[in-house]
Amino acid sequence: MELEAKEISARLERIREELPEGVTLVAVSKTHPVESLMAAYNAGQRIFGENKVQEMTFKHSQMPSDVQWHFIGHVQRNKIKTMAPYVALIQGIGSYEALEETDRQAAKCGRTISCLLQLHIATEETKFGFSFEECRSMLEEGRWRSLEHISIDGVMGMASFTDNTEQVLHEFGTLKAFFDEAKERWFAGSSSSFRTISAGMSDDHMLAIQAGSNMVRIGSDIFGHRDHGNTAGNQ
Ligand SMILES: *Cc1c(COP(=O)(O)O)cnc(C)c1O
Repeated sequence: MELEAKEISARLERIREELPEGVTLVAVSKTHPVESLMAAYNAGQRIFGENKVQEMTFKHSQMPSDVQWHFIGHVQRNKIKTMAPYVALIQGIGSYEALEETDRQAAKCGRTISCLLQLHIATEETKFGFSFEECRSMLEEGRWRSLEHISIDGVMGMASFTDNTEQVLHEFGTLKAFFDEAKERWFAGSSSSFRTISAGMSDDHMLAIQAGSNMVRIGSDIFGHRDHGNTAGNQ
């Protein structure tokens, strides 16, 4: 069951009130139909996050053109081409190869695509992303500097799925520390666009903000629970 437009709008309002200034809200709309996204749009939301390229591309075709689409899923190299013409930010870059392919596809579209490096901060094995060591060596090695059609704008991470707030805070803290280190070592300078720390979802965004996040990705707190059997009717 989808929430009514006025409920979505009221939830968005509540979340905006609790977010400190300078924290960007990404409305994670995966699995929800265009009508629900339009309810958020009509309440002023312009940044939407999706984790399936096909679903995002369909919604992009249906929604007003001033929406900024953030891809927050696992980036598969063969799908980058599909979103390259319009995606505003690819949040889940987990390998140098994905950066390289994004650069290639962005060049074909005559664009520069903003990307976040996804770091593996959780204890769970399944979570995608660079380890800190892999990311350091990729940045140090330096080939990324020759990619002219991407802009590395920061980092993204997901904490472990646990009630242990100490642990979650600690994990977000490691992401913030890595961001600070990377900013100093590889992205210093006032013209650098390396400024985003994307961390925090419905259940843990206040902890993430406490640890330094300036971009939160919130789905169920805005749109209600997801029906996993439904992928917005576009398949
Ligand atoms: C689904 C998802 C979210 C939002 O999760 P909620 O718990 O519904 O807020 C945030 N980030 C990523 C990467 C997701 O896949």
